[in-house]
This record gives sequence, structure tokens and C-alpha cells, in this order.
Amino acid sequence: MLEREDEDALRQIVGSSGVLLAPEDRLPYETAARYGGGTAAAVVRPADTAQVAAVLRHCVRRRLPFIPQSGNTGLVLGSTPDDSGGQIILSLDRLRAAPRIDVGDRTATVAAGVRLSALNAALEPHDLFLPIDVSSDPMIGGMVATNTGGARFLRYGDMRRHVLALEVVLPDDAGTVLQLSGGLRKDNAHLDLRQIFIGSCGAFGVITSATVEVHPRPRQSAVALLVPRDEEAIFELLNAFESEAGEFLTAFEGMSEAAMRHALAHVPSLHNPFSDGLPAYAILVELTSASAYRAGGPTLDAILEAVVTQLAERQSAPLTDVRFGRSERLWALRHALSEGLRAAGPVVGFDLSFRRTEVMPFRRVAIAQLGAIFPEYEVCDFGHVADGGVHFNLVHRTRATPETSRVQQLRDHVLELAVHDFGASFSGEHGIGRANQPAYDHYTPASIKTYSAAIAAVFTRLPAAAVRFGPPLPAGERG
Ligand SMILES: Cc1cc2nc3c(=O)[nH]c(=O)nc-3n(C[C@H](O)[C@H](O)[C@H](O)COP(=O)(O)OP(=O)(O)OC[C@H]3O[C@@H](n4cnc5c(N)ncnc54)[C@H](O)[C@@H]3O)c2cc1C
Repeated sequence: MLEREDEDALRQIVGSSGVLLAPEDRLPYETAARYGGGTAAAVVRPADTAQVAAVLRHCVRRRLPFIPQSGNTGLVLGSTPDDSGGQIILSLDRLRAAPRIDVGDRTATVAAGVRLSALNAALEPHDLFLPIDVSSDPMIGGMVATNTGGARFLRYGDMRRHVLALEVVLPDDAGTVLQLSGGLRKDNAHLDLRQIFIGSCGAFGVITSATVEVHPRPRQSAVALLVPRDEEAIFELLNAFESEAGEFLTAFEGMSEAAMRHALAHVPSLHNPFSDGLPAYAILVELTSASAYRAGGPTLDAILEAVVTQLAERQSAPLTDVRFGRSERLWALRHALSEGLRAAGPVVGFDLSFRRTEVMPFRRVAIAQLGAIFPEYEVCDFGHVADGGVHFNLVHRTRATPETSRVQQLRDHVLELAVHDFGASFSGEHGIGRANQPAYDHYTPASIKTYSAAIAAVFTRLPAAAVRFGPPLPAGERG
């Protein structure tokens, strides 16, 4: 519950309609993209940077815990409150001024509350785009805060590689606004502080705007689904595409049979490229080029076919089948996987990242172990195998809600195998939130925790001992 004094002060800053107290108004902000969520004391929606600074100043002075929220598509309960009813959701969704596009510089300056789809719609007339490809529609503030990766990481990298400047409001009692870097591509004149805020999930400050490098839109693309001979063959295929298709290779996404089956069952309009039976595993491979086709030269379709033919003709070919198809159709299947699993039953999800040659050995061991110990779960994994990322999702075979202790055992088992035995990261690209805070506490080396808390203390101007790095630091927990 918000005290009257705080309610009045916050309304003074953001206007009456910017403070949501009624349960039905708070609900969309309190509800997580997947499971869970909680109860907030209030949702506060500032409309510009000055209001964000004033809200933070008030929250810090009054020791009110707050959680920054942008698109609320995060999957680790970082943007929703706990059940205490004491946390304020600081929503950035009103910070959505039209992006300032500089075509010559190939950059866009974007407010935190602008959705990825809106940014790309604004860039389209200029034949530009921000090439972070996710099946959700996040906002720029959240994308910077979580360092979003996605399906085209292989070619373009993550948000970290695109952010050229940041505006951040610090959670200190002055509501300090920092302008970090001037949008330069090269700048070794001082410490690059902006990188500290990218991927730190709001622990050090609230991002209000970012200048991002954008890219020419592809003018040609070719897509196919490859069926690898077996697990070992997957990296033979990847290496062949990396050397033969070179800079054209944009995506190399793995999909298990179970994940494809659930997506096809959930979205009847999807085209099933394997109408004669789904393979155990398939790879979506994409080649793109920003150059227009030049008469007489090979098309991307021809390059793709040439690589595939060469692979198929190898002795003990790494490829047993291939399906060519329209790009949108094949990507539609890839983008439907996540929702398909959700519809299939309760999902226990992991966002793991491995050295890429360890992805398949982990998968083999994990499937064997889980089949024996947790037979009630079906492994429905998919992911960005070319960069070592695996969304290792387990779907309960019945729709019954599993016991919490059993889910915990399952989580512990998978994490111990992945992180301890295979040296994986327990958060490849989703950041840290309440859902994976225990893993952060357990697996993060003490030295990293200590130095992270020391850095947070610099930005919050509080003693390091009072700060813990992890999901957004509620102001009330700091002092
Ligand atoms: C179907 C589906 C598919 C997905 N696929 C991918 C994928 O392939 N790759 C990937 O990386 N992610 C993926 N995600 C996860 C999610 O979309 C990303 O993490 C996204 O970048 C989160 O952005 P958001 O605006 O929704 O942030 P939110 O969910 O609102 O917040 C995420 C975190 O950032 C903090 N935060 C939010 N805004 C700010 C701000 N302005 N300043 C400081 N901190 C802030 C929050 O407190 C929270 O900790 C997927 C999600 C869904 C639902």
C-alpha cells in the first residue's frame, strides 16, 4: 500500500493519470510474460526523463522499493513485483517519443518505452532496421537492460554491440541523469561506462533513452530447414556454412521435434514443411544480403543450394534431408515455438549458454538423465545453437500443476549438470530476475558479487555492504 503522502507526491510529479492504484489497472503490469508476477503498491508512469528523475528522487529519499519495467516481456520475473504489495512498478511505457533517425550516421535515438516493432516500422522507409530478432515485442529500455540476443546474434550480435549512447537516471537521492557516450562508434578517450548499464537489469540505474546503430535491411534472403544426420553432424553443417556462405550466414537455429510438434499443434495456420513426419531435430539456416541481386551473379538461393548439394555429396553426409521454403513461412514456425510450448502444458524453462561445441553433448546427457529421473517431463528444446544458446525447455506431459518441490529438484538437477559439469551460463540472454536469483546466488563467484556490489554502491552512493547485485535493486533494500 502506498501512503497518502507518497501518492500525492507521485501524482504531483507524473500527473494524476500516471499513478495507477486500482487492481484492474495494475494487473497488466503485475502479470509476468510467462508464469507468476505479484502485487504492486502502485504503478507509476512518468512521461519523460525529468519525471523519471523526480520519481527516483522521491522513491530513494522515502526508501520506497521500485522495479523498472519496459515491455514486460522478460522471462525471469525481473520486471514484476513480488507478493509483498510493497514495491512500486516504475513503468517506462509513456516514454515513447518518435525515434530520431539519422540516416547518414545510420543511428536512431530511441526513448525507453518504444517497442522494437515501432522502431523498425519507423526505420523501414529508410531501408534500415535494428536486427535483434526475438519472438516477443520488447521495448528499447528493457532490451538494453537485458542485453537482448535473439536469433540473428550470429551475424549482428546483441544489444551491447548496437548501443552507441545511453541516457540513464541513477537511483540516488538527487535523481542524477547521466549522458553516456555521444553516439560515437569509436571513443577511447575515457572509460566506457555505458557498458556497465547494458545487461545489468536495472541494478545500477534506469535507462530512459538509447542511441543505437541500425543496419541496411536485407534485400535478398534464402532460408532452408536442414535435417542433420545426427548430433555430431550439426557442427559440421555450421562450419561448412560459415566457410562456404561466409558473411551471408545470418541465422542457424536449432529446433527439436517436440518443440516443432507443439508449435504446429498450437497454431493450425502454420505451414508444416515436414508433412511426411517431423525429424528428431532441424536447423533453420538463413542467408541474407543487403546488396541487390546483380545480373549474372549467383542468387542467395543458388548459394544456399550449392552449399547443401556439396554437403549432401560428402561421404557420410552430415545432412539427411533439406526443405527449402518461403522465408516468412519457415521463420513463422521458429517464432511460434515458445508459444507452442506454453500451450502444451506447464513449462520449466532454462536459458542456457555453452561453448558451442558443448551444446549437443550437454543435450545428449541431459535427455538421457531426465528421461530416467524426471520421466513426467518432455524435453522440448530449441535455440541459437550457433552462438551456444539453448532454450532448454521442459514441458510437463500432463497438464497437472507439478509440485513445487519436484520442480525445484528438476531445476537444481539441470543447472548443476549445465553450469557445474559443462561450464554453462544459467542466463545466456534473459538477464537476472526473481526466477533465477537463487542460481545467481549459488553459482556466481564471490569476487564477482563483491565487485558488482561495489560498482552499484558508486551509482547509488550507498556503502557497498548495503547493496546486492542481482535483479533491480529496490530502494528500500539498500539502506
Ligand atoms: C516469446 C518470447 C521470446 C523471447 N525470445 C527472446 C530471445 O530470443 N532472446 C532474448 O534475449 N530474449 C528473449 N525474450 C525475453 C525478452 O523479450 C527480452 O529479455 C527483452 O529484451 C525484455 O525487454 P522488455 O522491454 O520486455 O523488458 P522488461 O521485461 O520490462 O524488463 C526486463 C528487465 O529489465 C529491467 N528494465 C526494464 N526496463 C528498464 C529500464 N528502462 N531501465 C533499467 N532497467 C529496466 C527490468 O526491471 C527487468 O529486470 C523472449 C520473450 C518472449 C515472451
